[in-house]
Amino acid sequence: MERKKFDIAVIGAGPGGYVAAIKAAQSGKAVCLIEKKDLGGTCLNVGCIPTKTLLANASIMHKMKMAEEFGISAKDISFDFAKMKVRKDSVVDKLRKSLGSLLQSNKIVIIQGIAEFISPKELKIKGKENYFIDADYIIIATGSEPLDIGAFPCDHKKILNSTSILELTHLPKSLAIIGGGYIGCEFASLYAAFGVKVTILEALPMIIANMGKMISDSLTFSLKKKGVEIVTDAMVEGIDKRENGVTIRLKNRDSLPSDLALVAIGRKIVSKDLGLEKAGVKVREKGEIPVDEKMQTNIPGIYAIGDVTGKFLLAHVASHQGIIAASHILGEESSMRYDAVPAVIFTDPEIATVGMSLEEAQKSGLELAVGKFPFQALGKAIAANETEGFVHIISDKKTGKILGAQAIGHEVSNLIAEIALAINNELTLECIADTIHAHPTLPEAWLEAALIANETPIHFPPKKRSL
Ligand SMILES: Cc1cc2nc3c(=O)[nH]c(=O)nc-3n(C[C@H](O)[C@H](O)[C@H](O)COP(=O)(O)OP(=O)(O)OC[C@H]3O[C@@H](n4cnc5c(N)ncnc54)[C@H](O)[C@@H]3O)c2cc1C
Repeated sequence: MERKKFDIAVIGAGPGGYVAAIKAAQSGKAVCLIEKKDLGGTCLNVGCIPTKTLLANASIMHKMKMAEEFGISAKDISFDFAKMKVRKDSVVDKLRKSLGSLLQSNKIVIIQGIAEFISPKELKIKGKENYFIDADYIIIATGSEPLDIGAFPCDHKKILNSTSILELTHLPKSLAIIGGGYIGCEFASLYAAFGVKVTILEALPMIIANMGKMISDSLTFSLKKKGVEIVTDAMVEGIDKRENGVTIRLKNRDSLPSDLALVAIGRKIVSKDLGLEKAGVKVREKGEIPVDEKMQTNIPGIYAIGDVTGKFLLAHVASHQGIIAASHILGEESSMRYDAVPAVIFTDPEIATVGMSLEEAQKSGLELAVGKFPFQALGKAIAANETEGFVHIISDKKTGKILGAQAIGHEVSNLIAEIALAINNELTLECIADTIHAHPTLPEAWLEAALIANETPIHFPPKKRSL
């Protein structure tokens, strides 16, 4: 078999792997990027981009439904879900092609095939052509896949996962979503917007539990208002297929009939078939590869980034880890830190968080100053008729340092960047309060929340003082 030699080999062309490859190649290194499926990985092909493209349809629907309030007549609204799917596919296709051109313009050698370790600096590639690759450094960016569960395996016809549901061209009348995490809630929001009867079955006492109670309660309220049924503490024991749908069997509860079921119970790390034992790379119980703050594994010269490290499972985290790994290989000083990671859930209303949740901040032992500002009190939100939700900021009362922020409402996916920048640069409430925010805009909500936390509110009544 032929052998090829590179300075750096990257396994997996998702947002972790391709970003690491570009960063490394821009310093003149000979880089190859090995991918067994499609360029762009989960994020571009079956994750962030297709879901947000479909959710863009729901957002138009949302606006059209409130047209009357703006004096615009939009009667007899209809839609064609098959066309929405075609648009989703074309967006993905367009981005995938431009990613291919971008990689080529960076002189990255793209290798189509499955990579497996032979030794710490040697890979075997199985694909159309089979060969060996020698590389001084190897970056593992093999990501994750939908978790299938033995008790109710996906048949991808009636029992779907987050990948197969993206292939639907017709809407079901009802959809039971098993798992109220961010993926389950985004699909719930999408399908409810088009009139599907959605039920979320969540095993924990609340949906999106990792976002904290305040945000979970707000989303629960909002989804229920849109007709989504949310059943918490719901243990699914099995799913029976019927001719016209499925029946979800629940522990200690009545069974639930539904046209389709979506299993959204988590992700499985992809590291099992990589031959890691031949390279001596350690893995944890669920396949996660432990790394240090430079993204190095236990074996010198082998790095791991993205979902395969089991940290955060977000595209932008994967990309940042990719930059850190490539930078370290290139001899640049940089380390990964996780205290300013923004996370967004693209439900209607959107949710965005960064840094500590309220619960984490309360456990930290620090004395806190918090400010919460509702969109109901914000001019731009009222003008746009988008008054649902709030922003909430948490700081260390002694130093003023911002520790975390949570927001739920219109466009909060865009608002969170300001606080991510603030936390990343260790800024204080004063820095937000001293920054002139354009009027009328949604980011003014942060200014008002910072002023409230400082006990100097302007567009909010002062705290009642005891006499
Ligand atoms: C429905 C859904 C919605 C999401 N929405 C968002 C969102 O809005 N925002 C966000 O930040 N994140 C979102 N995510 C998560 C995001 O997609 C992942 O965190 C991100 O893709 C991880 O990037 P990665 O590079 O680590 O791995 P991946 O994107 O999973 O890429 C890994 C690549 O490695 C390849 N590979 C695996 N093994 C081998 C091998 N042996 N040889 C060669 N190639 C191999 C795979 O084929 C794959 O292409 C979403 C995920 C899903 C499922």
